[in-house]
Amino acid sequence: MADVMTDFSKQEFSRYTRHIQLSDFGVNGQRKLKAARVLIVGCGGLGAPVSLYLAGAGVGHITLVDGDNVELSNLQRQVIFSEADIGQSKSFCAQARLQQLNSHITIEAINKSLGTDNAAELIAAADLVIDCTDNFAVRYLINDLCKAHNKAWLYASVYRFSGQCSLFTPHQSCFRCVFPQPPTHAPDCNSNGVLGVLPGILGTIQATEAIKYLTDLPSGISNTLLLVEADDMQLQKVQLRKEKNCPVCHDGFVFNPTSPDYQILCDTTKVIDVSTTLPAKDFNDWQKRNDVVVVDVRDYDEHLAFNLGGLHIPLNELKERIKELPTDKLILLYCQSGVRSAAAALQLQSAELSALSVSGGIAQIISL
Ligand SMILES: [Zn+2]
Repeated sequence: MADVMTDFSKQEFSRYTRHIQLSDFGVNGQRKLKAARVLIVGCGGLGAPVSLYLAGAGVGHITLVDGDNVELSNLQRQVIFSEADIGQSKSFCAQARLQQLNSHITIEAINKSLGTDNAAELIAAADLVIDCTDNFAVRYLINDLCKAHNKAWLYASVYRFSGQCSLFTPHQSCFRCVFPQPPTHAPDCNSNGVLGVLPGILGTIQATEAIKYLTDLPSGISNTLLLVEADDMQLQKVQLRKEKNCPVCHDGFVFNPTSPDYQILCDTTKVIDVSTTLPAKDFNDWQKRNDVVVVDVRDYDEHLAFNLGGLHIPLNELKERIKELPTDKLILLYCQSGVRSAAAALQLQSAELSALSVSGGIAQIISL
């Protein structure tokens, strides 16, 4: 038989059989994955499942960026590493592991954090950027550069039992439409606990959405914030919209690498459960205080169905209605399970307001 040029070798064709057999995906989808370039920022709890599944799926070019070394405490969730990797570069260890998984793809490792010195070039070269960091400065850097370069990026973050993720595409809302400025006190996984499997859940959602984005399949989280609450296994979607006052969602936006937003570091001395949440058992006492204003951040239907009093400002209206809130009082936010109110508390704190989220929300308060 004469040699013929094909898109896939015999081994590749065999390896990707289950994709090729999949209707709506097929050989065309596999071809798109092979041609794709993905930038994975961070090789930690999120980066592990994201990179393993994308390598397994046959994404043709994966760039890993991470300047940290593997530590023993990482192994609880960063399942790409083994005990033998402790003390070694995360990006190089991950590269070796992925190359063992799939020798048909190219994996590039950069043993350095993403910063203003290297981000523009790396983002410009990628078809999709995946944020797998736990660092707010890097997240704002990714958001703003993706806007400037018309690139899509997948956001995810995890905290304790909660996670959230979204796909931000060039012409829809961006991360700053939801969180205009970085918070002054940023929690990260190093100073706060996280359930080890949680970045696995969020990371596999990111990997799923990445594969769909790269193969032109519809997204489930574009222009939408998906909130994942692992303690009671609740999933919620919050519709996002492009904000008129967003600092980057306008034609004249010019990326400024000297912005202080890209310089902040995770403040490991201040943790979210002290600075932004109130235990549900304290709600009844606190809501009676004269220096406290209670705000329900759920949707209209939910508020009408049942509420615990106070003002009602749905999370997606919070930014434009922020002037309705007093600057001299503590704003006590609640929602159904504490996820949306936690996002609201961060948003208000970044606007220099004093705000706390009731941990566990209405579900917790009424169960006491
Ligand atoms: Zn925006």
